[in-house]
Order: sequence, then structure tokens, then C-alpha cells
Amino acid sequence: MAKRAVIIGSGLGGLECALILARRGYAVTVLEKHPTRAGGCLQSFERRRSLFPTSPSSCPTRSGICRFDTGVHYVGGLGEGESLHTLFAEFGLLDLPWKQINPDCVDEIVLDGKAYPLASGYRNFVDRLAAIFPTEREGLERFVAALRDVGSHIFDAVGPGNEGPNPLFSRSAYEFLQETIHDDTLRRVLSGAFMRMELAADTLPLYNFAQINNSFVQSAWKLEGGGQQIADRLVEQIEALGGRVILGAEVTGIDVVDGRVVGVRAKGPRIGSGVTVLRQAQQPSLPATTGNLITADIVVSDIHPAATLALVGDEAGVRKAYRSRICSLPCSFGVFTANIALKKGIIPARDGNIYAYAPGADPWHPAAEGTDRVMIYFYPSEDGFADRLDLIAPMAYQAAGSVYEAAKEAKLREVLALAETALPGLSGAVENVWTSTPLTWEHFTGTPGGSAFGIRKDWRNPLGTLIPSRTPVKGLWLTGQNLNLAGLLGVSITSVLTCKMIAEAGD
Ligand SMILES: Cc1cc2nc3c(=O)[nH]c(=O)nc-3n(C[C@H](O)[C@H](O)[C@H](O)COP(=O)(O)OP(=O)(O)OC[C@H]3O[C@@H](n4cnc5c(N)ncnc54)[C@H](O)[C@@H]3O)c2cc1C
Repeated sequence: MAKRAVIIGSGLGGLECALILARRGYAVTVLEKHPTRAGGCLQSFERRRSLFPTSPSSCPTRSGICRFDTGVHYVGGLGEGESLHTLFAEFGLLDLPWKQINPDCVDEIVLDGKAYPLASGYRNFVDRLAAIFPTEREGLERFVAALRDVGSHIFDAVGPGNEGPNPLFSRSAYEFLQETIHDDTLRRVLSGAFMRMELAADTLPLYNFAQINNSFVQSAWKLEGGGQQIADRLVEQIEALGGRVILGAEVTGIDVVDGRVVGVRAKGPRIGSGVTVLRQAQQPSLPATTGNLITADIVVSDIHPAATLALVGDEAGVRKAYRSRICSLPCSFGVFTANIALKKGIIPARDGNIYAYAPGADPWHPAAEGTDRVMIYFYPSEDGFADRLDLIAPMAYQAAGSVYEAAKEAKLREVLALAETALPGLSGAVENVWTSTPLTWEHFTGTPGGSAFGIRKDWRNPLGTLIPSRTPVKGLWLTGQNLNLAGLLGVSITSVLTCKMIAEAGD
């Protein structure tokens, strides 16, 4: 009989692990709490464009539905032979409608009112910045050489033989930048794309900075039609191999007997239909539970490690020290997003993104209050103008209540005002706007505090902040953005490493 693998969460990491395991012959069941969509941060969503259509003469609007992306806007390294290409080829994701972003300006970084391009292609990247910072050509060459070196070893995150972290996890990204580049403005430009990862000056390891930035210097890509297609394509492949992806199935517990995982408990409308479910009454030795038990030989959790441990009861024998270490690890910032439907023909479309900063702002040292940075992502329409925009900015977590509502409104005003410094006329071009906050993310992904990139990695404590896939519970494995690197590249590397470790353990 095939071994049974249950995957908790259908984010990219969960779906990729499910596909690898299904290919290896496991009977795979993915349980996803979202009622209608797989994908976690890959999800796209739709909104009715305009609730109150205005007069076409005074204010042109279009009716209909518009789509927005949630957590994924662009990726790096999809060109042949590049970092993500090999991985996405393995995962059957290359023939989706990927479109390369203009290599001359993937991201425009606006600092102190001046725009600087982050290009792609190693030579192009150096040449475009060296044209503005001619005395820094040598530093820029050293910068890309270091990125390239790290990027040529994407599976070396945990060092040879899985013995421990790559030594670059023990080096500071911030210090590397100080040593390599003399011009302060250029340092800020090179770090300006703040939505690639969290730029924390005290903690970010050089490995994370170099691996992720390298992929975007190789080449940068958008997925026409949205990130949901990645999730849907993975689900199709899992199902074609006999696996199941069950939506509306929230895992409420992980059952462990004699130190080994025996299954998960789940609740939801679709649990019990088409799944091998053992009801609680058939397993009297197990603790009283709320959901049905779905038996498993192995469980792979794609949710935050602290949320995973919260599902494991005290009787599982997980040491208190492990629990408290994992649960006390700080996470990256959470984000505020404004998804905006635009009036026709006002804001010119862009292929790449804009990262706009308030005067004097430093990507590595966020302002304690207010909004000092915003990412602007464009959804072009055929007429050459932008049809929609996403504005994304870091935001402190705020629990639900009246303070939350006020904070959300204030944030929208600040974010729009800052984006308008790079896109004059923006506020008059807004047709409709929908917002989300870290509270929204926490609700949807279960990540504590709604963190965008999960557990913060710390070069001063690589062993403590790089979470291994293996857990103290036999047969329970972790995957996803919290372990190693965030983003589609990082999560995909981790999926491969997680499944490699499962195979090596003979699980
Ligand atoms: C605003 C934003 C923008 C981003 N932009 C980019 C980008 O442009 N490019 C890029 O490469 N990366 C980007 N990222 C990062 C990237 O989206 C993530 O690193 C990656 O998608 C995370 O995947 P994951 O598999 O770790 O988990 P997630 O996507 O968080 O998936 C976890 C899943 O588990 C489910 N779940 C939670 N609890 C339970 C439970 N108890 N039972 C069942 N299911 C459960 C959730 O519903 C969710 O579907 C962005 C992130 C954010 C937040």
C-alpha cells in the first residue's frame, strides 16, 4: 500500500512538496482551510470594478470585474539556466504565460525625488548604475560578482551534507554593502526594492540578500493573468497523479502516538467526502478532538512553525525548550495593500515597478512612524495606460476594533500621498479601492502578526533562526517560506530540500 502523506496548507511550498511526493508514489492529501482557492499567497482575487458608476462624461469608468494579485507580483531568474528556471521546469510551471519585465528597468527606485533604475542582466545592471555613479563601477562589479557566486549554488543553503548553514548565513548583508559600495545613495538604490525581502540592518544574512537579489539581476518576470495560475497548475498535476487537494479543510490538530505522527484532525464542509477519514470513535486511544482524523504516515506542514506546534498536543513529547524557541522567533514586517481600479487613460502603464521613498528615507532603517516607502505595481491595459495598481507598504499589526479602522484609513491616505509623488495625478485617477492589512494576512494565512515573509533570519544566530524541516516528532516535517528563504525562489528551494530530507530519513 502507498504511504500516505498529508500536507497542511496549499501555499506554494505545500503544493510543491505534494507534487514531489505524489511523483514518488505517496498517496497525497493537501488540506487547505481557504474555502474556495488553493495557493495561499499565490492567490488572485476579483472585485466588481465600480459599485457606483459615475457619469461617463465627467469621470470615465468601466464596468465589470477586475482581478488583483495578493502575494506574488514578480519573480527573478526564470531565464534558461537561471536560478528559478530549473526549479519551475521540475514543477511543470514554465509554460505559463510568463512575460519578461523590461531588462533596462525592472524596478525604479525613487529616492529624494530622483529615479534610479535596477536593471537585469549582470552587465546591464552594472552599466546603468555606473552611468549615474561612475566612481562606483568597481564596487558594482564586486557587488554583482558576489551575488552571482551565491546564486550559482542555490541548493547550498544548508551546506554540504546538511551539516549546518552556509557560512554566508553568518555574514551581515548590511555590512557587506557598506564594505563594497562607498556612495550612500547607491547603497540605498541597491537595497531599494523592499518587497523582495525584509531589509533589517541588524539581522539580514548576506546569503538571503544575495540569493534573492541575484535572481532578479539575472532576469525578472511577471505572470500575465496572475499568480493563481501557479497554484492551479500544481493542483492539476497533483490530481493527475491521484492526489487530492481539499479546500475548506482546516487542520485543527496533529495526532502523535509514541512520538510518531499518525494523522491530522481537520474540520470543514468537505472533510468526510472522498477522504479516508477515521472517526474519533474508531481511535479511542487518541485524545478528544474536534475534527475528523485523517490518517497519515507523514505530515508536511506549510504553515508557520509556531502555528504547526500549536496543533501538536502536549502529550506528543515535544520539549518545552524547542516549543518556546520556535514560538519566540520574531517575524518580518506585515504589509498594507491598496488594490486600486483606475479611471481610464490617466496613469501611463509601466512594465516594471516603482519603489517610492519619502525624502531622506533609508531602505534599511524604516521610519518609526508614518509611511516612508511604497511599492507601486502596474496592471497595464491595451491602450498603454494602467488599468489597476497595487500599492504595498509595511504596516504595524493592529488588532480589530475602532483603532484598527482609523489606522487603516490613515494608512491609505499616507500611501496614496507617497505614491502620488512618483505618479502625479494619482488621487484623481482612483475609481475604486480595496485595502488589506497584516490582520487580513493573519486571518488568511495563519501567520502570526500577518508577517509578509515569515520568520526573520539573523546572521548573528543562523542556527537559531534557520528552521530545519525535520521536527522532534517523527514523520512531521516543515516546509514553506519560514524555513530558509522567502519568496517563490526561496520556497521552491526549500520544497526540494524538505522532500530530500524526507527521502533520506526513509519516511
Ligand atoms: C504582499 C506580498 C507580496 C509578495 N510579493 C512577492 C513577489 O512579488 N515575489 C515573490 O517571489 N514573493 C513574494 N512574496 C512572498 C511569497 O508570496 C511567499 O514567500 C510565498 O508565497 C509563501 O508560500 P508558503 O508556501 O510558505 O505559504 P503560504 O502562501 O502562506 O500558504 C500557507 C497556506 O496554509 C493555509 N493554512 C493556514 N493554516 C491552515 C490550517 N490550519 N489548515 C489548513 N490550511 C491552513 C493558508 O490558508 C495558506 O493557503 C510576497 C508576499 C507578500 C505577503
